[in-house]
Amino acid sequence: MTAKLIKGSEIREQILAEIKDEVNKIKKDKGVVPGLVTILVGKNPASVSYVTLKIQTAEQLGFKEVQDNQPETISEAELLALIDKYNKDDSINGILVQLPLPKHINEKKVLNAIDPDKDVDGFHPVNVGRLMIGGSEVKFPPCTPAGIQELIVRAGVPTSGAEVVVVGRSNIVGKPIAMMMVQKGQGANSTVTMVHTATKDLAAHCKRADILIVAAGVPGLVKPEWIKPGACVIDVGVNRVGEKVNEKTGKKVAILRGDVDFDEAVKVAGWITPVPGGVGPMTITMLMKNTLKSLKFKLGIA
Ligand code: NAP
Repeated sequence: MTAKLIKGSEIREQILAEIKDEVNKIKKDKGVVPGLVTILVGKNPASVSYVTLKIQTAEQLGFKEVQDNQPETISEAELLALIDKYNKDDSINGILVQLPLPKHINEKKVLNAIDPDKDVDGFHPVNVGRLMIGGSEVKFPPCTPAGIQELIVRAGVPTSGAEVVVVGRSNIVGKPIAMMMVQKGQGANSTVTMVHTATKDLAAHCKRADILIVAAGVPGLVKPEWIKPGACVIDVGVNRVGEKVNEKTGKKVAILRGDVDFDEAVKVAGWITPVPGGVGPMTITMLMKNTLKSLKFKLGIA
């Protein structure tokens, strides 16, 4: 058997086209567009490149995009005042603070200062609570888990009654995707197991999975013999395992590997996501979807 590839890079384009259509329609009918502010403190190169990608995607979709760059020396009080300003700004529907923040600033305090109704990353405790309650309470599912669920649904993988095993229990991937898949509803209604470093027999749990979601950050952790034939394997891991020279640009680029032994797993699984090009492209896409949703909630059309 050769697994069907679930290509996030293609599904991303479909979703962005859907968002763009909706943005155009709302602009025509209501005269407004989604507004997103990205706050970047300092000049960390990885943060600059993430923020640039977010800005480019927002602009491509016709959003109002505000890029607010602040110096490394900004105080916590000044940053909190800035967030308060955007909380009160009617033209802004989503507020993003790029992490990490400098050491003198309490990240938790800053993230918790964002109005939960503009928290399009979905990390505010209010939105974590809403996710746990499920159904119509959910406003902004966190972006990477939302992207994973979207991939599963769009690939046509059955979820109701499926055994889902999630490797990893982080607050940004493992816990929220487990919570989403267990909810009663479409694209979920699964029987969910979470496994981690204290789990006794990782392989035995993985082998039971109809849908195996791996977010451990350990290259090649999941072996092909741990995969049930025909299962759907979602590899969230993005691990830098070396460098190579890009033939076109001549620049050095990272060699990325997932948490699953892809070359062998593809022979056993029914569906599998590649790394790169699987889950990765979905995160910013879902951020845009959440920002559009935020405007729709405000307009009462969500
Ligand atoms: P994290 O915070 O480091 O959490 C990793 C989790 O995996 C922990 O719960 C840990 O268990 C578990 N784990 C680690 N090694 C394990 C092992 N040998 N056996 C069983 N469980 C193990 O990582 P994260 O932020 O969730 O990210 C996970 C991976 O996804 C990383 O490679 C990251 O780069 C990638 N990622 C990708 C995207 C994207 O594509 N957009 C977004 C986010 C993350 P304990 O709790 O017991 O320590």
